[in-house]
Amino acid sequence: MESIATKDLMARASAAARVGEALQARSVRRGLQKNPENAEAWLGLAGVIDNPDDKKAVLEQALRVDPENTEANAGLERSRGVCRCRAGAMTLSRRPTLTCPPFCNAPCSSWISSQRRAQAAPPPAATEEVLYCVNHPDTETLLRCNKCGRPVCTRCVQLTDVGYRCKDCISNQQKVYFNAEKLDYPIAFAVGFIVCAFAAPISGILLSRLGLFGWIIAILAGSAAGGFLAEIVRRAVGRRRGRHLWAVAFAGILLGVLVGSLAASRIENSFSLFSIANLLFLGLALSTTYYRLR
Ligand SMILES: [Zn+2]
Ligand SMILES: [Zn+2]
Ligand SMILES: [Zn+2]
Repeated sequence: MESIATKDLMARASAAARVGEALQARSVRRGLQKNPENAEAWLGLAGVIDNPDDKKAVLEQALRVDPENTEANAGLERSRGVCRCRAGAMTLSRRPTLTCPPFCNAPCSSWISSQRRAQAAPPPAATEEVLYCVNHPDTETLLRCNKCGRPVCTRCVQLTDVGYRCKDCISNQQKVYFNAEKLDYPIAFAVGFIVCAFAAPISGILLSRLGLFGWIIAILAGSAAGGFLAEIVRRAVGRRRGRHLWAVAFAGILLGVLVGSLAASRIENSFSLFSIANLLFLGLALSTTYYRLR
């Protein structure tokens, strides 16, 4: 079945398809001629059309074939001007000719800045070359990772602050950044615990004996003590970084404060974990440690 409306839509779509993505448009159209009842194929065609009116018409055709199709519904919503790109973090631009094909198919700032970067970079040598995704050998693509240069499809690419990157390159980059070793986690926990289990009762008892003067000491020394504690923990793990290393260290610190304070309240009657000077000191110290470790 190929109605007049279908033919008309295809003609408009072929005129509107971007030159650079004519390749994808051609293969999608081939599929549509065989099976015009295929909503996925209409969606694919919508993905390579620039003109917002034509895109809308094709998406509406996809919905006619499959009224429940979530992607087509979302696409229509986007064509009304909502960019869902990167969890809605991007703001819409008013330039209607630029769109964001891997993500929202809407003119959004992330796509525009990537276009600017692409224009600044030297143009690719062979534009007619057919590329296939390294992970999906059946998927034709026009995108390349800007780090390793391998061709990747829209499922395998991610828009980062420095352009389109394949997932391998992104995870390699994270491995370089998060260089903590397995032993660093128990070390960070133990060092935080031991230091605080001794320091919390000592500082607490001193502050309780100083009376009003304890308040002043707490305010003056709290942040410095917290910074010192963070420095001890960071040195203990050789200044390596781990995704959750700070949280593990902080858990040890909190447990150390708790255990140390409980012990202190048994030894010294005048000590109270909840005295105002002690709470002031602990609050200042621990918030500083928290921000230094994160
Ligand atoms: Zn976008
Ligand atoms: Zn890569
Ligand atoms: Zn792929």
